[in-house]
Amino acid sequence: MAKPKVYDTIILGGGPAGLSAAVYMGRFLRSTLVVDAGHGRAAGHQVNENYLGFPKGVQVRRLRELGRQQAARFGVEFCDCSVTRISKEIDNFVIECGPELTLRSRQLIVATGVSDIWPAFPFVERYIGKSLFWCITCDGYKMIDREVLLLGNTDEAAITALQFLRFTPKLTLVAHPGYNAICPERLEDLKRNKIPLIEAEVTQVKGARGMVKAVQLSSGAVLKPEFLFSLYGKIPNSQLVAGLGVMLNSAGYIDIDENQQTNVPGVFAAGDVTGAHAHQIACAVHEGAMAASAANYALYPPLQRHDTDEEGPLKHEKQAA
Ligand SMILES: Cc1cc2nc3c(=O)[nH]c(=O)nc-3n(C[C@H](O)[C@H](O)[C@H](O)COP(=O)(O)OP(=O)(O)OC[C@H]3O[C@@H](n4cnc5c(N)ncnc54)[C@H](O)[C@@H]3O)c2cc1C
Repeated sequence: MAKPKVYDTIILGGGPAGLSAAVYMGRFLRSTLVVDAGHGRAAGHQVNENYLGFPKGVQVRRLRELGRQQAARFGVEFCDCSVTRISKEIDNFVIECGPELTLRSRQLIVATGVSDIWPAFPFVERYIGKSLFWCITCDGYKMIDREVLLLGNTDEAAITALQFLRFTPKLTLVAHPGYNAICPERLEDLKRNKIPLIEAEVTQVKGARGMVKAVQLSSGAVLKPEFLFSLYGKIPNSQLVAGLGVMLNSAGYIDIDENQQTNVPGVFAAGDVTGAHAHQIACAVHEGAMAASAANYALYPPLQRHDTDEEGPLKHEKQAA
């Protein structure tokens, strides 16, 4: 029976972090496969801002397409499926995509991103990235003087609402009656800054082509914001590698060192799934590049590493003599 192919590196996730790592690994001439489920933050409707070189922003799906083309030019392979299990078998990682497909590699770069918690009204996906956002750094600027409805239950949500005052005074915060955990001090801050807080659930949103027109609340009120911001948080997609013994921080993000290396040899991580917490395309691309450089370096035999101790090369010369 033919031996199964063992890639140098399998990259889990084909968003900006994974694709950036893929471009570098391809150019290092390492056999590389990107396994991607195709959902996640880089699969929405949004136009990404803040990324250098795109003065009018770049449609997130277009950026993904360009990243794939760029990595494919250097021999990187792609597999569109969802990884369901990862284990270690002597020297290799074994990556399962359901019962049908098993892949093997010497290394892993984990770039699986996060799952955003969006409000649960019907057809919510139509609005994400068009008139429903989550990130003030990405999309606060679009809100200048706009009518914005913020959805959140925590002190962090209240503080973000206060930060939005830089962009617009037309703000309302809606907290779920069952989950409102905003402390009295932050409630007072909201009041002092004239940001109304409504305790209610969003039951329905009406709109056209992804743009919100009206929001029905469980209290019976109907609001007419131009934009919605979900401040419910996110969950890192890190559970797959937790089973390998990869350390996570208290919020579930992957712990990495300054080289994007996890505590498990051969496992690197990049992008939103790590504890670096930047949650921007530029940062994901940076982390992907760093992870690939470290992964490539780890694949060199000891003699090709700068960090070989002085004994290493000397020993080799002695053996050769
Ligand atoms: C609405 C919205 C607007 C945004 N606007 C901006 C902006 O203007 N500027 C900016 O810089 N950033 C913006 N961001 C943030 C930016 O999209 C993220 O920081 C970036 O996508 C992170 O890249 P990543 O590669 O780490 O994760 P992702 O882009 O989320 O990619 C992770 C990939 O991993 C895959 N994956 C997950 N689990 C598995 C599995 N088990 N098997 C196989 N594949 C898996 C997913 O399918 C996905 O393709 C925005 C995000 C959202 C949601």
